Amino acid sequence: MDVYFDNNATTRVLPEVVEAMLPFYTDRYGNPSSIHRFGSSVGEKIAEARAQVAALIGAADPIEVIFTSCGTESDNAAIRGMLEARPDKRHIVTTKVEHSAILGLCQHLEKKGYRVTWLNVDQEGALDLTELEAALTQDTAIASIMWANNETGVIFPIEKIGALARAKGVPLHVDAVQAAGKIPIQIKNLPVDLLTISGHKFHGPKGVGALYVRRGITFPPFMIGGHQEKNRRAGTENVASIIGMGRAAEVAYGRLPADAAAMAQLRDDLQKLLLESCPESRVNGAEQPRLPNTLNISFRHLEGESILVLLDQQGICASTGSACTAGSSEPSHVLRAMSVPVDWLQGAVRFSLSRFSSEAEVDYVNRMLPPIVQRLRGFSKTGQIADPSKSSRGVPASGRRARG
Ligand code: PLP
Repeated sequence: MDVYFDNNATTRVLPEVVEAMLPFYTDRYGNPSSIHRFGSSVGEKIAEARAQVAALIGAADPIEVIFTSCGTESDNAAIRGMLEARPDKRHIVTTKVEHSAILGLCQHLEKKGYRVTWLNVDQEGALDLTELEAALTQDTAIASIMWANNETGVIFPIEKIGALARAKGVPLHVDAVQAAGKIPIQIKNLPVDLLTISGHKFHGPKGVGALYVRRGITFPPFMIGGHQEKNRRAGTENVASIIGMGRAAEVAYGRLPADAAAMAQLRDDLQKLLLESCPESRVNGAEQPRLPNTLNISFRHLEGESILVLLDQQGICASTGSACTAGSSEPSHVLRAMSVPVDWLQGAVRFSLSRFSSEAEVDYVNRMLPPIVQRLRGFSKTGQIADPSKSSRGVPASGRRARG
C-alpha cells in the first residue's frame, strides 16, 4: 500500500486543476498583457483566478491579490516591501518558529543591519502576546507572524496578534501558506495587512503563490520591470499555474468545512492509535489549536530520519520535524523553540494528511509503525538517540530534510 502523509510538503494536483490549466499550454498561449483578443481573453481568465483566490482568503476586493512565483517570493516581497515603504524604521518582529522563507530572510536582514526580535513560544508552541506587545515599537517596520506552523500545525491567534500590531501602528504580514484551504480565512475582517499563500499546498500547481496586500497599504514592488499585476509584480504571468491555483482555490473554498472535518477525524484517529500502540511517544503541540491535517509525534530516544527510511520501505511517505544539512541531522528549530526535551527532540515524525487520506491508510500506518519503533528501540541505548548509521544492521539516516 502507498500512503502519502506528507501534504504539508506538497499536495497532489487535482484533476480538475490540470484540466483547467491545459489549454493555456496549448492553444491559448496569448500574453495576457497584449491588446488583441487572443491575449486579453487570457487576461480575463487571470482576473477570474484572482477572484477565486480572493474568495478563498475572504478578501474584500480581488485587486488586493497579487500573483507571485511561490510562497517564498510572497514572504520576501511582503517584508522587503514594508522595509522599503518605511525606510526610517530598522526593526522587524517575527517568531522563532517561522518557515525558512521568513527565518532565512530575517537572518539575512539582521546581517544587513536590521534589528530582529525573535519571539519565543512555550512548550506547546504558543506565543506570549505580552512579549509580542512589548516588542512592537516606534522603530518596527513590520511584524511577520505565521498563521499555522508547518511542522506542528499549531495555529496562532491572528486576530489578537493583528489587534496588537494595529494598536501600535505596525503593519502585520501573515504567512498563511499552511492555513489556506485548511482553515477558514476572512482577511477582510482581520487586522492583517499582508498575507502569503502558495498554490501547491492546497492541490494546485507548484511555482505559483499569491500575496494579499490590503487596499491603502503602500507596497513598493519586489520584482521590478514591466507593468504586470498593476505594477506590483513585474514579469509575464505564469498563466497556466495562476489559472490552476484559482481553480484549486475554488475547490478548496467549496469543500473546506467538510474536508477539514474529515481530515481532523482521521488525524485524531491516527494520533490516538499511535499513542496507544507506540510506548514512549508524545504529540508536539497537542494542547494548542492545530491544523486539522497535521500530527507531529516524537518517539523517545529515536531518530526521526531512521523511522522515515523504514516507513518509506513500507510505502509510507512522511517527514521529520528536523532539517538535515550535509547528512548531519540538526534538531528542528521549531521543536527546539518549544523546549522539547533532548530525549524527544530527534525522534519527531510529521504526518500531514489531505482530503485524499483514508481510514485504511491510517490503519496501515498504525500497523507498520509500532514494529519499526520497536526495531529501532532495539538499536538504541537508554538515554541515547539511536544512531543506526553506527550499527552494521542499522538503517542509515537518509539526509532528507523536512519540506514545507
Ligand atoms: N511558508 C510556510 C509556512 C510553508 O510551509 C512554506 C512551504 O513549504 C512556505 C512558506 C514556502 O512556500 P513555497 O514552497 O511556495 O515557496
